Amino acid sequence: MRRRIFLAVVGAPLALIATGAGAALAVPKSRHLISGLWNLPDRMPALSSDSQVHYQPGAEDFARDVAALLPDAIARVEAVHGRPFAHPVIIGVYATPDAFAAANGIGSTVPVGDTIFGGVNLLPKLFGPQHWRLRAILTHELSHGHIQGWIGEYDYIYLPNWFKEGLAVMVSGGGGAEFVSDDEARAAIQRGEAIVINDTGGLSQWIDIPLEKEPEHRPPWYPTVLAYREARMFVNYLRESDGPGFDRMMNAILDGRPFAEAVTAGYHDDVRSLWEKFVGQGLRGPAGSG
Ligand SMILES: [Zn+2]
Repeated sequence: MRRRIFLAVVGAPLALIATGAGAALAVPKSRHLISGLWNLPDRMPALSSDSQVHYQPGAEDFARDVAALLPDAIARVEAVHGRPFAHPVIIGVYATPDAFAAANGIGSTVPVGDTIFGGVNLLPKLFGPQHWRLRAILTHELSHGHIQGWIGEYDYIYLPNWFKEGLAVMVSGGGGAEFVSDDEARAAIQRGEAIVINDTGGLSQWIDIPLEKEPEHRPPWYPTVLAYREARMFVNYLRESDGPGFDRMMNAILDGRPFAEAVTAGYHDDVRSLWEKFVGQGLRGPAGSG
């Protein structure tokens, strides 16, 4: 497994992907990615009761918490994405921030969780002061892991970030966008601080979701979390306004079709036009949960 991944990195370094939840992140550097490769969560012991959950010694209680939440999180992702996981996603839970940073591919403890090389890493903060976020962040990261499991990390990069993050925030009931409300996001869109709606991803975006206009007088984490919240509202609108269309789009995405094609398959429309409808209609309606 490790050899296969390492060869893939050498052959196609652009195929590396890290996705973060809930805060502005640095662009991953190759040394952090290599560190992530050599610290894949499956190198750590697994719970005897759940082989999907691996833990750094000292984090066994944290791992049991994660295992208890896992069945519901998996069921939620499978229900919204519309099909089972291609294979189980390995989850690593850590006792120390340093060990998390070594494994998460970006060398940072700013995000509380991330998904890289198809595995999920969770920061010990989620077992301490931010334990209340654990269920949602776990579900958020499993949304990313589910898509990576079906289409691979290379094609995953080329899905637009607003879609990947909006979906993960929606599926998880708000995970990663807890600190910006729907009302704040609605007002920001109306001020022109709206997410840039594109239909491809790629390395130029990597993790962040660009905004048409940056909010002023806000802390550094704010634009990313605002963008996650706006993306959640738009993805939620797509699902609520046309459920069968959303299911067709998800099916096409998980079959590996390019995002623009998947949107057309689902909605017989393009994503810019759907965004205009969202701003014209969806922003006035109920935003739904999450
Ligand atoms: Zn994410």
